[in-house]
Amino acid sequence: MSELYHKLENIVKKEHISNDLLIRHSYSRNVDLVLQGVPDIVIRPKDEIEISEILKLANEENIAVIPRGGGDCEFGGSKPIGDEGIVIDLKRLNNVLNLDQDNLVVTVEAGISWAKLNDYLCNFGLYTGCMGPGSGMTASIGGGISHHSVGGGGCAKYGACTNQLVSLEVVLPTGEIIETGSQANKYSQYPFNRFGNGPDLTGLFCGDNGIYGIKTKVSLQIFPKPEYAAYKTFQLPRKERQVSAQIMSEVRHRGIDVYDLMYIMDLLIRIVTQEKCYPLFEDLKKKRGIIFYTIEANSEQELQAKENQLDKIMEKNKCEYLGSEISDGNIAKWHYTEQGHWQFYHNLWGIYPSMQPLTAECFTPVANYPNIMDDIDQWDMEHNDDIRKIFDITQIRPIAGSGPILLIDGNNVEITCGFTSFWSVYDGEVHPEIDEVNLRLWKSLLERVTKKGVQWYMMGDLMSRLMVDIGAYDEEFYNLMKRTKKMLDPNMILSRGKFNFWGK
Ligand SMILES: Cc1cc2nc3c(=O)[nH]c(=O)nc-3n(C[C@H](O)[C@H](O)[C@H](O)COP(=O)(O)OP(=O)(O)OC[C@H]3O[C@@H](n4cnc5c(N)ncnc54)[C@H](O)[C@@H]3O)c2cc1C
Repeated sequence: MSELYHKLENIVKKEHISNDLLIRHSYSRNVDLVLQGVPDIVIRPKDEIEISEILKLANEENIAVIPRGGGDCEFGGSKPIGDEGIVIDLKRLNNVLNLDQDNLVVTVEAGISWAKLNDYLCNFGLYTGCMGPGSGMTASIGGGISHHSVGGGGCAKYGACTNQLVSLEVVLPTGEIIETGSQANKYSQYPFNRFGNGPDLTGLFCGDNGIYGIKTKVSLQIFPKPEYAAYKTFQLPRKERQVSAQIMSEVRHRGIDVYDLMYIMDLLIRIVTQEKCYPLFEDLKKKRGIIFYTIEANSEQELQAKENQLDKIMEKNKCEYLGSEISDGNIAKWHYTEQGHWQFYHNLWGIYPSMQPLTAECFTPVANYPNIMDDIDQWDMEHNDDIRKIFDITQIRPIAGSGPILLIDGNNVEITCGFTSFWSVYDGEVHPEIDEVNLRLWKSLLERVTKKGVQWYMMGDLMSRLMVDIGAYDEEFYNLMKRTKKMLDPNMILSRGKFNFWGK
């Protein structure tokens, strides 16, 4: 056992560290199955002090460190790039530290999941507003902040989870521990506001994909959950991409306060019905796209007024109401009342055995997404020969497209787009050629979408390096990002490899 291992063991105790081969391999991947490297050591510290000591040691030994929350990133955000390195699993930082009901701020340890936090808050009639990502049952608050996550409910009303951020405690790569927001004033007794006391350093760590520091405490605004809610699901007419975009834009332009507004494309409806993932759509005669809304209100009158406005928009756009019950196909009700927002995507990605989502998530203005979706169809046709190589093995064609499209803050949407393919281990046999085709097609599609001007918000290793490889970054922006990295992390130990800061 190495000297480094013994030193780390002294920091966290031996039950919280491992170099067992199986453990190391289980931390070598995220949701995608691409293997980029296996860590030497996996460690589970309990707090910021232990994390600080680990980082100081890693600097002395010049060894890479990768922070990991729930490990739900879709393309390698919290797995090592290259062998070696220490994965810091943050799941022991799992507690609610303070609920400030007067000021509506909660402070938690960064490894707590969205589900655990909201389960706690609902005892007080409160919630986080934006419910984090669709993976919120396991994904952590720290991972969400590191990604600007959005999608697990409430995103049309509250936007990405970073919007609610008040302050952070961060262990810098060199081991110093800082607090941001109102806590930058050492006389402030509790976190209450993000902006002020100088520049918004909290923002530096939002969406940083774990390169600038390890978040250990997060203070978030919280909200009383309104007493009234309504949820309706509609089937879209033809030209559903354009019609759904028109509806979203009209809702924004008329200032109607929706909690969620989501479009699910026809291809997805057909597949999930065919594979019996969503029995609630089985009875639909036409397997067209779906749009649904959720609204919240503090009185029945307010709810009714919003509902009337929205229903008029749906009617004008020839949308067909499916009925009030979940069994009628009202996915909106399931999404809101039964936490479907944290279950939806799990089903989608397990449609066939060995299927793997090779996706990425981005923001774009509402008006842009029909065009992006059309171009993904075009890309699919252009790459049919390559896609066929996988089909010849699996007899099921990989799918290019998008998951649900969600209205977020502003007149923008979140799109999960990509290529859903198969793993090289298919039906008990290994087909290494699939890996090569998958990676090539995945990058090709993401490059194509990048050139539509989208904003990737969760970047992982794949997107962060692809942006650099294809020259998509504005040069001055990239240089500032790199200089900031060098200043905060002179030995470049944290999340080594991301954004290609030191070449390939
Ligand atoms: C079924 C499913 C549904 C999903 N739906 C959505 C969705 O709707 N919206 C969405 O945004 N994403 C979604 N995702 C992707 C992902 O789960 C989220 O982005 C989530 O917020 C990641 O959180 P995590 O704790 O799993 O982070 P991880 O995957 O562990 O880490 C993500 C990144 O953050 C870094 N990191 C993690 N914790 C910390 C910390 N404390 N300090 C510093 N860096 C840290 C990691 O190094 C990595 O770069 C989904 C994934 C799955 C599997």
